[in-house]
Amino acid sequence: MRIIDKIKADGVHISFEVFPPKTDAGFESVLKATDGIAELTPSFISVTYGAGGGTSKNTVKIASHIKNDLKIPALAHLTCVSSTKEEVHKVIGQLQKEGIENILALRGDIPQDGQFPLPGQYSHACELIEDIKKMGDFCIGAACYPEGHVEMEHKKDDIRYLKEKVDCGVDFITTQMFFNNDIFYNFLYRIREQGIMIPVLPGIMPITTKKQLARSCALSGTAVPQRFRAIVDYFGDDPAAMKQAGIVYATDQIIDLIANGVRNIHVYSMNKPEVAAAIMQNLSEIVK
Ligand code: FAD
Repeated sequence: MRIIDKIKADGVHISFEVFPPKTDAGFESVLKATDGIAELTPSFISVTYGAGGGTSKNTVKIASHIKNDLKIPALAHLTCVSSTKEEVHKVIGQLQKEGIENILALRGDIPQDGQFPLPGQYSHACELIEDIKKMGDFCIGAACYPEGHVEMEHKKDDIRYLKEKVDCGVDFITTQMFFNNDIFYNFLYRIREQGIMIPVLPGIMPITTKKQLARSCALSGTAVPQRFRAIVDYFGDDPAAMKQAGIVYATDQIIDLIANGVRNIHVYSMNKPEVAAAIMQNLSEIVK
């Protein structure tokens, strides 16, 4: 099923994310986590992609398992920055062969030791989107950054490039994580003002360890509001308490989004079915 049709259907929809193992050794445990998340009947499950291409094979395999065995719509992420066009086209062909209709088209982070862009290869996500559209009838998602992408000094330029990307043929966009919903509402206002009218899925990351917060924020540049910082400072050294507090904080963000009219929310569940299940349990009377 095309995710855009799910998004447009009535009701509140929660989707989750898994990431593939770096080596084949971890494959079974990721499949198990995926099966656990599938039991929560999410609107779709997304599978991330290693920018270096190392996990590409597993992304396709896990997305195929979600779609063909678990019968849940799968969203396969695809990055292009460290691959040749030929390699990327091959992966698109594999996705097509597995019947996966949904791709989250990404540039990927610029490799620190590599040349960018590679001559004649991709430099931005919009070029990948154009190629995906040429190759088949996919539902295409893309990334967006309510706090601005780390490489872009001015948010206005970031939104201008986002508009160009959307105009290449994007059906929906998913946000980088944020911990303050006001940032998301402000972003929505600013992109709508610039004519970006497609659905926007807020991405919510349940932070369950102190280390995870530091790592995630270093990568994404996401700001930590004082309220959440106090929670992590207080509970961070007690793993069970931190996990519970992080789940409650994420649930609180989701409830606020729903109360403000948001109908599709993506949860960065990070191969943790128990975290996804706890959130769904907290929402049991809200998301039916
Ligand atoms: P782009 O849309 O190409 O934008 C990258 C930067 O270039 C931005 O600063 C933008 O403003 C600028 N820009 C865009 N077009 C132009 C142009 N024409 N000229 C000049 N500047 C331009 N990474 C992974 O490796 N694997 C994943 O699975 C993955 N999943 C993600 C899912 C989501 C929802 C999000 C938000 C991010 C994800 N990422 C993933 C991270 C992502 O790859 C990085 O943030 C990457 O640095 C940017 O990718 P993009 O597709 O947003 O790039």
